[in-house]
Amino acid sequence: MKRIDIDSELCSRCGLCEKSCPVGAITLHDGLPAVEASCTLCGACADLCPEGAIAVDRSQAETTQAGHKGIWVFVEREEHDELTSVSAEILCEARRLSRRTGDDVTAVFCGAGGAELRGSLECCGADNLFLLENAQLEVYNTELYTEALVNLIARHRPQIVLFGGTSTGRDLAPRVAARLRTGLTADCTALDIDAEGNLVQIRPTYGGEILAHIICPHRRPQMATIRPGVMKGTGEAPRKTRIQVFDSDLISVRVRTRILEEIKELSRFSRLSEADVIVSGGKGMGSAENFKFLEELADVLGGAVGASRSAVDEGWMTHHHQVGQTGKTVSPKLYIACGISGALQHLMGMQDSKRIIAINRDAGAPIFKVADLGIVGDLFEIVPKITGLLRENKGVLSSR
Ligand SMILES: Cc1cc2nc3c(=O)[nH]c(=O)nc-3n(C[C@H](O)[C@H](O)[C@H](O)COP(=O)(O)OP(=O)(O)OC[C@H]3O[C@@H](n4cnc5c(N)ncnc54)[C@H](O)[C@@H]3O)c2cc1C
Repeated sequence: MKRIDIDSELCSRCGLCEKSCPVGAITLHDGLPAVEASCTLCGACADLCPEGAIAVDRSQAETTQAGHKGIWVFVEREEHDELTSVSAEILCEARRLSRRTGDDVTAVFCGAGGAELRGSLECCGADNLFLLENAQLEVYNTELYTEALVNLIARHRPQIVLFGGTSTGRDLAPRVAARLRTGLTADCTALDIDAEGNLVQIRPTYGGEILAHIICPHRRPQMATIRPGVMKGTGEAPRKTRIQVFDSDLISVRVRTRILEEIKELSRFSRLSEADVIVSGGKGMGSAENFKFLEELADVLGGAVGASRSAVDEGWMTHHHQVGQTGKTVSPKLYIACGISGALQHLMGMQDSKRIIAINRDAGAPIFKVADLGIVGDLFEIVPKITGLLRENKGVLSSR
C-alpha cells in the first residue's frame, strides 16, 4: 500500500522536498521526487511543499517503528578527557532499561579522541561506541552536530536516544528531534518502559507538584534529556565496548554560527551541575563582595556557589550560577540556601536536592517549607561560624 503520494500534475519540481527530508529518502528524477523505502513518514516534505502536491498517510507511521533497535546515549567529555558524570549516569540507566527491552546500549561521541573514553564506557555497560570523527566536529557547533547525528540516527534507526541536560544536550536534542519529526521530553528525572515497550519519560511539572509520565507512541526514536545527578548507576558489570568510527559528510551544511573565542570559566565554584554541595546566595547577601562568605563555605565543603535570580539581576553573580526555572536545575547531595526567600521559580531548580539547609532571618520564609534543616538568623553571623567550625574539625570529619 502506498504510504506517500506525490501528485505529478501539481508538483512544480522545485526540489524543496528533497532538501527538507531529514533521512535523505527523496531523490529527484527529471525534477520529480521519488520516495525511497527509508522514508519514515515524518511529513516534513508535505509540510513544506508549496503546491500541496504531497500527501502522507500517517496512519501507517507506526509500521515504520518496527526496524528501530537500540538505546543510544549522546556522551560528553570533561576538559580532562573523562566522561562527564551525567553521561555515566545515563549510560547506567540505559543499561537498566535494556534489560527490559533487550536492546544494545550505544554511546555516541562526536569529535576527536573519543576512543579514550572506552574504559569508562565499559564500566558503564556500553555495548558499542559510535565515534563521529570529523575535523569539523572538534568544537561543538549546533548545525554540524545536528547534521551528523541526524544522519547517523536515520541510518541506524535507534529506538531511544538520550542526552544529558547539559548546555550542549539542551541545545542539540530539540534540534535533532525537530529534524527527525519526533518527540522530546526535556529534563527527565526518571525513565521506565511500559507494557507496550514505550519509553516512559518522567519529569516534574507544575512547579514539582506532579510527576508527568510522557510517552511517544507513534514516532521513533523516542528522545529525552536527563537532569544531571538524578540517576545513580547501579554498578554495572563491565562489558567489552566495540568501537565503530563514522565519517560525516558535512560539506553541504550551512553553518550560521562560528566560535570566535572560548572564554574558560575561571572560578572553580561555577560547576553547579556536577557539584555534590551547592552553597547558594540570594538578595539577602546584600552585595557581590559578600558572596566571599559563601565561597569560603563552599571551599571547605568542596562545593560550588549558586545564586537566586535576584542576586544575578543585581549583578552580584553571573547567570552561569543561577539556580531555578530560568537558570540551572540542580540536585546535589546538599544545598545550602542563604538569604533566599524560596520563590516557586527558585524551588523548581533545587527542590530535588537530597538535603536542603536554609538560613534566613525571616522565620516565615517559604524556603523553610522545603528545608530539611532551617536556621533562623542573620546569615552574616551564621555562615562564617559554620565555615570556622568545619575548618577546625576538617581532620575529624574527613577521617569518618
Ligand atoms: C518567569 C520567571 C522566572 C524566574 N526564574 C527564576 C530563577 O530561575 N531563579 C530564581 O531564583 N528566581 C527566579 N525568578 C524570580 C523569583 O520569582 C524571585 O523573585 C527570586 O527567586 C527571589 O530571589 P531571592 O530569594 O534572592 O530574593 P528575595 O525574595 O528578596 O528574598 C531575600 C531573602 O533574604 C532574606 N534575608 C535578607 N537579609 C538576610 C540576612 N542578613 N540573613 C538571612 N536572611 C536574610 C530575607 O528574609 C528574604 O527571605 C523568576 C521569576 C519569574 C517571573
